[in-house]
Amino acid sequence: MLIAGRCISLFAMSLSDEFWMEEALREAQRALTLGEVPVGAVVVREGRIVGRGCNRPLSANDPTAHAEILALREAGTTVGNYRLLDCDLYVTVEPCPMCAGAITHARIRRLIYGAEDAKAGAVHSTLQVLNHPKLNHKVEVRSGVLAARCMHLVQSFFRERRSEGDNSP
Ligand SMILES: [Zn+2]
Repeated sequence: MLIAGRCISLFAMSLSDEFWMEEALREAQRALTLGEVPVGAVVVREGRIVGRGCNRPLSANDPTAHAEILALREAGTTVGNYRLLDCDLYVTVEPCPMCAGAITHARIRRLIYGAEDAKAGAVHSTLQVLNHPKLNHKVEVRSGVLAARCMHLVQSFFRERRSEGDNSP
């Protein structure tokens, strides 16, 4: 049993970042069906998803209901700890300052994201909240995972919104 369990665990841990980003993209699709900006996130611990979130500030009437925040909240409940030391967060778009702060509070081990956010990204793009020199907690970051698909989803959402605006009287 122990050997079998170990094999499964090693197999799960060998799954690639692209595999988990597919799950985050699934959450982004869910946001799209709610009429929200399509961003999705999952938290992974020991080869298993412990938290999921899709962006939903409009439908939830909650300015903090970003995909990452919802995924972190669910992960905290699942793990039974507000610190998520051995957890990795996958999100389709570069986190904003609020989410970068939450990632630091949660002590996330690795952040893996897809598309850059030139307007609000707080990892590399606009601000550097995550891994700020004044903060103790350092997060390993990998960007650009399935970036084209993550970006395409967001861009087509805004293109559609603009064309709807053009057609309005
Ligand atoms: Zn955010």
